[in-house]
Amino acid sequence: MTSEPIWGDPITEPYWRAALEHRLVVQHCATCGHYQFYPRPFCLSCGSDAVSWKDVTGRGTVYSKTRIWLQVLADLEPPYVLAIVELEEGPRLTTRLVGDDVPIGGTVELAWLERPGKPPLPAFRSRPTVIADGEGVQSGLT
Ligand code: ZN
Repeated sequence: MTSEPIWGDPITEPYWRAALEHRLVVQHCATCGHYQFYPRPFCLSCGSDAVSWKDVTGRGTVYSKTRIWLQVLADLEPPYVLAIVELEEGPRLTTRLVGDDVPIGGTVELAWLERPGKPPLPAFRSRPTVIADGEGVQSGLT
């Protein structure tokens, strides 16, 4: 008999289960509508324990970023861009930027980083922005 591995702890495991399906989820409060990340057993806005997991769009903007030049983790080869991305739903995630350079304030979308034997990690890449007058598409800038 094989049992599935447990990822994280009882509070974070739903997050990792969703990541295995390439779904990004954050907690949502049924009482006040607040979204939050990282997960907690209660709502940071109103204190309710009516928090559950909800899929998010995976779109956001770069709140801050820096390039890492020193090796901190054995399986994370520098250089790479560490960033804080603010999701459309509000929460900010510490994550990585991949692909083309994206400025602070630039729009991004989800891009999963696969890890053998582990749930993938959410990362973000430049997201083309459709210009309102239909003139064309700009890459990653608002
Ligand atoms: Zn709440």
